[in-house]
Amino acid sequence: MLVDSHCHIQDPEFDADRDEVLDRARKAGVSAFVVIGTDMESSWRAVDLADSHSDVYAAVGVHPHSAKELDNRTLGALERLADSPKVVAVGEIGLDYYRMLSPPEAQQDAFRQQLELARRRSLPVVIHSRQADEETFNVLTSYEEQALPDWPKDRPLGVMHCFAGDLMLALRYIQIGFMLSIPGTCTYPKAQLICAVAGGIPLRWMAVETDAPYLAPQAHRRKRNEPAYLLETVSRIAELRGDDFQNVASRTATSTAWLFGLGDIGEPVSLERGEEIK
Ligand SMILES: [Zn+2]
Repeated sequence: MLVDSHCHIQDPEFDADRDEVLDRARKAGVSAFVVIGTDMESSWRAVDLADSHSDVYAAVGVHPHSAKELDNRTLGALERLADSPKVVAVGEIGLDYYRMLSPPEAQQDAFRQQLELARRRSLPVVIHSRQADEETFNVLTSYEEQALPDWPKDRPLGVMHCFAGDLMLALRYIQIGFMLSIPGTCTYPKAQLICAVAGGIPLRWMAVETDAPYLAPQAHRRKRNEPAYLLETVSRIAELRGDDFQNVASRTATSTAWLFGLGDIGEPVSLERGEEIK
């Protein structure tokens, strides 16, 4: 049992062989796929794919790169799309000051507006943060304060996708109710930071992801990534933790089901936020 918490298999790169890609992953043990939007078109495509496969779920949102395209009309369309039955999250949203493809003010506006949308719809958020660690953390800390009165206290507010901060920051995110998602970069030889996080956080707050078609694990590095390769990431995490593969696979699957409300993957786990942090 494995859940790919973040992939982009609606991407045109998979148009030629999407069904084969899904089948390879299922044969490898992946039992659910969360397909993430980055703009309106890819969000529509994610919902479309989810509607035609029982094990595929969708997140809809506008990535910081496309933030300047998020006007009021687009936001309204996004909110209607978020009401589709297979939509389990708003994302990916956040801040990217590395590539700066949208001006910072547009990124901040789009981020806040979509957080607000997620809160109105009671959906968790999938967060992208690059070279914006402190600001992203501050925005999400005030979001936690604002969202909490209406939020079931045993459910995470969202997930930090492709988390790239240190273990200290990871634990601070857990304290405010955010899970961390570990990508294939933990298989790279010089990846001390992410390896420390993968080895150090409680499994209950960990998700695993491919981010396919990006960030293929070491054995496929610089090639197209696909959800079947999630096994390599989970093997590496198990090795880092001195744990066995099955335990990491099923516990991260259960955590991810808890985050996104995928009831048929694992029973939702009830716990107080911040519990189990050592
Ligand atoms: Zn992504």
